[in-house]
Amino acid sequence: MTKLQQQITLPNGLVYTQPLGLFINNEFVAAKSGKTFDVINPATEELLASVQEAGVEDIDAAVDAAEAAFNDGVWAKQEPLERGILLNKLADAIEAEADLFSAIESSDNGKALWSAQGDVALAIKYFRSTAGWADKIRGSIVDSGETHLNLIKREPLGVVGQIIPWNFPLLMLSWKLGPALATGNTVVLKSAESTPLSALYLGTLIKKVGFPPGVVNIVSGFGRPAGDAITKHQRIKKVAFTGSTAVGRQVLKNAAESNLKKVTLELGGKSPNIVFADADVADAVKHIIVGIYYNAGEVCCAGSRVYVQDTVYDKVLAEFKVAAEKVKVGDPFEEGVFQGAQTSEKQLNSILNYIKVGKEEGARVITGGERFGTKGYFIKPTIFGDVTEEMKIVKEEIFGPVVSITKFSTVDEAVKLANNSNYGLAAGVHTADLNRAIDVSGRIKAGTIWVNTYNDFHHMVPFGGYGESGVGRELGAEALENYTQVKAVRVGLKKVFK
Ligand code: NAD
Repeated sequence: MTKLQQQITLPNGLVYTQPLGLFINNEFVAAKSGKTFDVINPATEELLASVQEAGVEDIDAAVDAAEAAFNDGVWAKQEPLERGILLNKLADAIEAEADLFSAIESSDNGKALWSAQGDVALAIKYFRSTAGWADKIRGSIVDSGETHLNLIKREPLGVVGQIIPWNFPLLMLSWKLGPALATGNTVVLKSAESTPLSALYLGTLIKKVGFPPGVVNIVSGFGRPAGDAITKHQRIKKVAFTGSTAVGRQVLKNAAESNLKKVTLELGGKSPNIVFADADVADAVKHIIVGIYYNAGEVCCAGSRVYVQDTVYDKVLAEFKVAAEKVKVGDPFEEGVFQGAQTSEKQLNSILNYIKVGKEEGARVITGGERFGTKGYFIKPTIFGDVTEEMKIVKEEIFGPVVSITKFSTVDEAVKLANNSNYGLAAGVHTADLNRAIDVSGRIKAGTIWVNTYNDFHHMVPFGGYGESGVGRELGAEALENYTQVKAVRVGLKKVFK
């Protein structure tokens, strides 16, 4: 028998009804193939639920629903303020169940509960921020003399496809849904296969607060066939993707070979975190820790290459090692735990393999370098020293709690090392000298430069990558540009007065 919901008791005792179906046209439905897949709690390796798996025909059904909702005109053409009101209601509904959302997220993703609570708070804030934009999308009038009137309008695109990753499931969902809905689009969103639960639960709130059927459709499923079907779909006008660079390339290719849908990509990184000799060492170490061990290192902009000026290198390394060894790893629901589990067995093995390669390449494990415990996908906070720029662990994104640390002597050398990557998502600069901070920030090729801080987001500050880290920007006013297109209406005027 098809099971479309299930009661789940979360580790902190919360009991709730988890939807398991595909959320299409405001209903939870079974996959047409009847297929399901298992969702594992990465901290316990136990089964949390089995959810319906979307196939190509389910993506078609979701697109049908989204297209009908777009074409009937109600959503896109109503007074924009109404869309803002609904987005605010959604934010209120999430807030009313914030504890539940945080616990779902921790259980599904493995992240520490405090960290999940932070994600939920940020998602609520971002929905509210995009609600505020809904009636502030401005066009313009271009003056070309008295013979014509030129109206420049911003219109929604239509049905947009959104593919989100597993490291920040609810937060990435908010970054995608908020601007798409505020600007009048309708959506087919696919969650990541290892973390589908919070997105499905959100479906219940989408319906409850009154979004019209078909405006938001949420499907659980794998990259192939479901993600692939979204990127190739002829009736999807835009795709927004967050995930690996390898898949990002494929997304662009599929868009080009199908209907030239617009594409925005938020991809990987190998971000430098630079400490200059004049920096406040205790503060810099705090930001190095947050830079690499926050969310168990499963952060696209993780500060995974630390560069320290030679005169303070020994001091910084000594303090960093002590702090890394104090990072509490373990049960995400346990008080004081900073670093939870890696999100999947696949990711655990991928990180452990990088650690093995690092050792084989001759890098020195300063601390960590192995699995933590035997049950659950935990890894000890790891620091590699004695690295060279050619090593795989310095070049490739590990996406785990593993960092390399290297010495430099001059500002030019630091900038050269920082830019020695095909990625360009973020960078950290730690210095007491404002002139140096501004100079180095200008010379580093990355979309975000954090000065004397790290992993420090604000919903009004745009985020996105240079180079192979992506295309387009999320957050802030820039996010709205991804979801609107410009229409120019040039009206020829008859001269009435002589
Ligand atoms: P991934 O890129 O395969 O998965 C991200 C999302 O893309 C998921 O929803 C997945 O189902 C979907 N997807 C996968 N293949 C697809 C395809 N062919 N077409 C359309 N959608 C597809 O990431 P992964 O394999 O889970 O993790 C591998 C690496 O990706 C990680 O180690 C990390 O380096 C990187 N990653 C980066 C981010 C980020 O925030 N930038 C997030 C997740 C993973």
